[in-house]
Amino acid sequence: MSSKSFVLLRKLLKVHSISSCRLFSSSAVYRASKRHYDLLVVGGGAGGMSVAATKFKGISSVGLMDGAQKHYYQPLWTLVGAGVKEFAETERRMKDIIPPGVDWIPDAAETFDPEKCIVKTAKGAAIGYKYLVIATGMQLDYNKVDGLVNALENSPKVCSNYSPVYVHKTFPCIENFKEGNAIFTFPNSPVKCAGAPQKIMYLTEWQFKKMGKREKASFKFFSPLPVIFACKKYAQTLDKICADRNLRCYFKRNLIKVDSDKNMATFQNIDDPKDVKSHEYEMLHVSPPMGPVNVMMNAGTLVNKAGFLTVNKETLQHTRYPNIFGIGDCTDVPTSKTAAAAAAQAGHLRKNLSAMIEGKPLGSLYDGYTSCPLTTGYEEVVMAEFDFELQPKETFPFDQSVPRKSMYLIKKDWLPKIYWDKMLKNGSFSPVYPNPWSADQRRFAEILRIMESEGFDFKWEDHSKEVFASIRKIRSDHAFADVTLHSGGRNFVAHKVLLAASSRFFEDLLAGLPANKCNVLVLTDVRPEILRALLDFIYEGESSVGNNLLEDFLTAAKKLQIRGLHSFDARKSRKRKTSGHLRGSTQENDDDEVVSPGRETAENTPVNSTNASESNKPKSMVLGPSVSPTTEEIDTESCVQVKVETGEGKEFDDASAEWVEEETCADGEYCEEGNEQEEYIVDLENSDMKIPPEVSRKFVSSVPRTMPSICRESNFDISVPSHHSTCAEFYLSFRTVLNTVMEGLPFIEGRSSSGEDVLPRL
Ligand SMILES: Cc1cc2nc3c(=O)[nH]c(=O)nc-3n(C[C@H](O)[C@H](O)[C@H](O)COP(=O)(O)OP(=O)(O)OC[C@H]3O[C@@H](n4cnc5c(N)ncnc54)[C@H](O)[C@@H]3O)c2cc1C
Repeated sequence: MSSKSFVLLRKLLKVHSISSCRLFSSSAVYRASKRHYDLLVVGGGAGGMSVAATKFKGISSVGLMDGAQKHYYQPLWTLVGAGVKEFAETERRMKDIIPPGVDWIPDAAETFDPEKCIVKTAKGAAIGYKYLVIATGMQLDYNKVDGLVNALENSPKVCSNYSPVYVHKTFPCIENFKEGNAIFTFPNSPVKCAGAPQKIMYLTEWQFKKMGKREKASFKFFSPLPVIFACKKYAQTLDKICADRNLRCYFKRNLIKVDSDKNMATFQNIDDPKDVKSHEYEMLHVSPPMGPVNVMMNAGTLVNKAGFLTVNKETLQHTRYPNIFGIGDCTDVPTSKTAAAAAAQAGHLRKNLSAMIEGKPLGSLYDGYTSCPLTTGYEEVVMAEFDFELQPKETFPFDQSVPRKSMYLIKKDWLPKIYWDKMLKNGSFSPVYPNPWSADQRRFAEILRIMESEGFDFKWEDHSKEVFASIRKIRSDHAFADVTLHSGGRNFVAHKVLLAASSRFFEDLLAGLPANKCNVLVLTDVRPEILRALLDFIYEGESSVGNNLLEDFLTAAKKLQIRGLHSFDARKSRKRKTSGHLRGSTQENDDDEVVSPGRETAENTPVNSTNASESNKPKSMVLGPSVSPTTEEIDTESCVQVKVETGEGKEFDDASAEWVEEETCADGEYCEEGNEQEEYIVDLENSDMKIPPEVSRKFVSSVPRTMPSICRESNFDISVPSHHSTCAEFYLSFRTVLNTVMEGLPFIEGRSSSGEDVLPRL
């Protein structure tokens, strides 16, 4: 952002640092005639607004005095500066958030008279009170650093998240950074949110990485303190982060001057004031000196020398005037000044002021709880929570010194919501959760755990039970059936997806059938009662089979490779790939054996089979649109019918590694005239075949989905489109390729039995 546009923005915004700007208006909320309140709250920030929102017994009138037109949720400015959040999310018009029943006095307190219980305002009004809560926060003293205001006003390289004006400069500073030092400072004064000066450093580093310029930047963090963070537990994490990411920390150094013409920042050694060094910067983020607002500096017996309201650090009652309480940054409570601290204090203040009103002793004791969500990078926060003794006081059931995404989400999304919707509306929000964890809090912890992960797991506890109950019903209703199994003159409607899921045999077979047509599978050697029992098993997971059918049932189950009744490892065998040449034999019995649909291995042979040689027979699938079924129940027009012989019709000669297609229409039952399959012989055992890639590509593109295992065993990278769907076509294609490659013959046009082109001409 150029300095001109920045000045323009400043004019447009018409806001200045929180305490220096008081724009007065004649708000309808303020009844000018009222001059006395049971409870007067001075300062409508995080602390004051939450006290004003609290209902107190015995208090009939509440006045809230604050001359600012805007209320800011300052903790989010860190993310605004980093380019993560919009500034608009951090501000509300004061008049829109004044709690119902509370009079807003849009005026600034100018003097306090605690003896007479009167506050005089900048506009000259004198407001009396019975009880007074002071919550004036802190003001920013940018002018305490030589040249800083000029630099902030005029240099695009200098920014500060601490002000609602200068926070707009931070992200442009990050974006415009070219090469050099990125310097971040901590003030030599009390500070609100002691983590904020370094949070923006981590976020800037993340942004630089994202923008690809991290290598061009040297990060330097200057602090007058001897350590990076007061609470040791979190300091350890932060020290490590700085070391790992090469973020150099200079302790006991205080920013005393900024020369924006030369882009130089000058620091003084706290222990040795003569030790003064200047560092050139390409980007300078300043956390300015801060202190009590002017009215407090002059508040006499109400404040300590520095101008902080003196209160009992536990009860928050004034040390001298019992009807006065203090909350937030303006007090001398020795804890880290944060909105979280103010939120915790609000709970104790409410109880103690109530006790005071009722004439009871003040018994609610604040332990110094404060919290600082340290954004250590994009989507990670170390959620520091600790007390007066700097002892961790952690809310969540995990180690909060670890940077976590869940804590980042809390900082970014939850805390702002809690602030606007809870803390400012009913003042009752207290961020401290008691131990042991209640059921609700455990649930909350579980949500946090989920937030930590990348995604969400959903589990349907009774999934199989409920799905199978539905499937059973669907079956009995004959709903959604998309395939017919035909056996012994009987039809069984079924569902392809279930057949495929339950049987490797069906899976391979069905994969090759046209998806948009009704299909009839004619099982020639599976008796209907066996088929019925197998379908029961597939649909119900169980089946009752009489002794007399047992052997046939198991034999058919093995042949059809029904899962649960057959131990064939489909996935494993699919991975098989041989190298160099196609193999004619698939009859090996090793673990990786590849088995084509319907073909048996010795392993698959029924133990009690009386005809071992039969189990070695490959099964045939004779496919073709013109095959006629034997039963009238099958609609020959709309269905593609598939005759499935589970043990007959083909011979496989293992010794010569030859496939021999027998006359599959021998029985005449399923063949129409003129539709006989051609005989073919493929002998590849000893071939040294090298298939040129372009031939291989053509070949592969024409291979039907249902190709037998000989293809799967090949070294082709087979990704097969489904438009050629019959084995007959495949065989034709295959022979065509072989002719071309092995015999050097020119490519011939292959035709399937249906007359379609199998291979295009080369
Ligand atoms: C960049 C940044 C990051 C921060 N990050 C966090 C964080 O992550 N977590 C966290 O908990 N806290 C954070 N804080 C600190 C937090 O915002 C403050 O500690 C908190 O707002 C203090 O509340 P308060 O009510 O004491 O003061 P404020 O919220 O500052 O409110 C003071 C109010 O008093 C009014 N006032 C001043 N003078 C007078 C007068 N004479 N008469 C009447 N009214 C007056 C002001 O207009 C103002 O409305 C951050 C602050 C900043 C600037």
